[in-house]
Amino acid sequence: MARNIGPSCRLCRREGMKLFLKGSRCLTEKCAYNRRSSAPGQHGQIRKKESNYGIQLREKQKVKRIYGVLERQFRHYFRIAERSKAVTGLMLLELLERRLDNVIFRMNLANSRPEARQLVQHGMVYVNNKRVDIPAYTVKLGEEVSVKAREKVLKSLREKFEALKDRPIPKWLEMDIQNVKAKVTAMPTKEDVGFPIQEQLIVELYSK
Ligand code: SF4
Repeated sequence: MARNIGPSCRLCRREGMKLFLKGSRCLTEKCAYNRRSSAPGQHGQIRKKESNYGIQLREKQKVKRIYGVLERQFRHYFRIAERSKAVTGLMLLELLERRLDNVIFRMNLANSRPEARQLVQHGMVYVNNKRVDIPAYTVKLGEEVSVKAREKVLKSLREKFEALKDRPIPKWLEMDIQNVKAKVTAMPTKEDVGFPIQEQLIVELYSK
C-alpha cells in the first residue's frame, strides 16, 4: 500500500508543528522540530503571508500527514464524508480515527501510527477474530480489535502499553490489556483527535 516514505521530521517543519510521527523520539531532545522549527528548504526561513488557499492547503496536508494517508485515499474519505448525513468535516475526522492502524495506536500498542501500521501489515491484528492486514480498514461500532501473536510478542506489547500509560485511551475504546484487545463502544469525535484541527478549511478547499 502506498505511503509517504520521505523524512518524517521535514513534514513537521513544513506544517510548523510537531506531528509526532516518530513515537517516543518526538518527546526527546532529539526531535528535529525542537532543534529547528523553520520550514525545510533553501527559503524555509523566509516568512511569507499565506493566501486563503495556502492556509486551507496546509490544514489538509497536516491532517493527511498526521494519519499517514496519501492524497487519493484522503479524497476518498472526503467523498464518503460528503455523502454522509453528518457534518462533512467532523465525519472526515471520524473516518480517519476509525482506521485500523489508528485504533492500534490509540490502544497504546505502538509508539506511532507507522509502527501501528506495521503491526497490522504483519498480520497480527484481528477484528472480531478474523485477521485483517489492511491498515485502512474502518472499524465499526461493536467490533473487537485484538492482537494475536506469540506470548513473547504479547508480553512486549503489554510492556509498551505500560510505558505509554501517560497517553490516555480514548473513551470510544474499551481496552482489555490482559487479553490485548479493545472493543469499539462509540464513534470517535473531534476531541479524540488530540490536535488543533480546523476541518472546515479542508471542506472549503475541496469544495472549490
Ligand atoms: Fe516531528 Fe519531532 Fe517527531 Fe521528528 S521527532 S516526527 S520533528 S515531532
